[in-house]
Amino acid sequence: MSKGNYAKAEYASSKEEQLFCKMVNTLYEKSSFYRKKFSEIGLHPGDIKGLKDLHILPFTEKADLRNNYPLEMQVAPDEDIVRVHSSSGTTGKPVLIPYTQRDVNNWAEMMARCMLMVGVTNKDRVQITPGYGLWTAGIGFQAGVEKIGAMSIPTGPGNTERQLQMMVDLKTTVLIGTSSYGLLLAEEAEKRGLLDKIKLRIGILGSERWGEKMRSRIEQLFGIDTFDIYGLTEIYGPGIAIDCPHHTGLHYWNDHFIFEIIDPETGKQLEPGKKGELVITTLTKEGMPLLRFRTRDITRIIPARCSCGSSYPMIDRITGRTDDMIKIKGVQVFPADIEYILKSIPEISSEYRIMVNRTNGRDSILLQVERNEHSRATAEAVAKKLREEIKNKIGITIEVEVLSFKSLPRSEKKTKRIIDNRKV
Ligand code: ZN
Repeated sequence: MSKGNYAKAEYASSKEEQLFCKMVNTLYEKSSFYRKKFSEIGLHPGDIKGLKDLHILPFTEKADLRNNYPLEMQVAPDEDIVRVHSSSGTTGKPVLIPYTQRDVNNWAEMMARCMLMVGVTNKDRVQITPGYGLWTAGIGFQAGVEKIGAMSIPTGPGNTERQLQMMVDLKTTVLIGTSSYGLLLAEEAEKRGLLDKIKLRIGILGSERWGEKMRSRIEQLFGIDTFDIYGLTEIYGPGIAIDCPHHTGLHYWNDHFIFEIIDPETGKQLEPGKKGELVITTLTKEGMPLLRFRTRDITRIIPARCSCGSSYPMIDRITGRTDDMIKIKGVQVFPADIEYILKSIPEISSEYRIMVNRTNGRDSILLQVERNEHSRATAEAVAKKLREEIKNKIGITIEVEVLSFKSLPRSEKKTKRIIDNRKV
């Protein structure tokens, strides 16, 4: 490495270190939550000399945020808070996130970076189908779209009929939504014979994990390129990482965050390239900065620099959530493992559902798949092939049910893939 490059790298990391140490001090001074957490483990901010000491800091869990409802973890003074959002907690109290004006601006800036990275320009017309309001982040997408000067079409979710009409009449070029809704819109457009009238060129889809098969079906029907976008309300919302045009991973904004990967069971940091739970520390957030927030998302940091030329580092696509992991007969199974196998079987569609059952103390998995539109193979033959593949590649024996095309539910929001009947 030349001396010049080395000097540059040093500068970048020292700026990050400064932000990081400053934030630890701020939290110690201004957050009773973190001061308590630090004192529980006998930690003084002076012990944190730089990023190398990150691992000493305590984790922040989603439960911490819930237990400090409504705004006990807010750090900036009330007069600086300009907005709150809420994460879609499925159980118990919601989680509220306060934003300062600078937080809102930074989020819009990150979202604009996402748009530019995937090739959205000020000539594009962007249909925004995620929800607006307290629970969701349609407004985050809108801010990014407006920042780059494109036209936003804030349809929000639902009303597929109207969505398709807008898409045709306004000649929408970019679609934003969940991948489930992208698929539903594509299939409905095909059914109504509208595909020729649709001018889409880009799909920015996120908020749930989606397999290659689902992705290629949306891409083929609409004739578009699709990009995975990542984010979570606890941090800002969507837009903290986005699929690269080379589709080799998701670039994340390391001037705003520290990403680390840990072993979800031991909490130990894992080296770059190893798969585990993503933990995020915010560097610039003011309303509610977070130290080592456990996202429960499974991914890895890609150690190489991207071939697209961007210097922002990358994570891999999210392959599951620590909560989604099914432990069956001692084997850890992620939905992504099943999807990987489904991809190799042309006779079935992109949709599937996993049911986990327990009878007489014995666990079993039933995998429901759909036969593809044009497949002529018998349900029996497809089921046999799938059972064998799963036995060979994952090492478990499961039941397979092959249903007719489109018999599994399509969703406007997130598709529920796993139904674990052992938990009820
Ligand atoms: Zn790239």
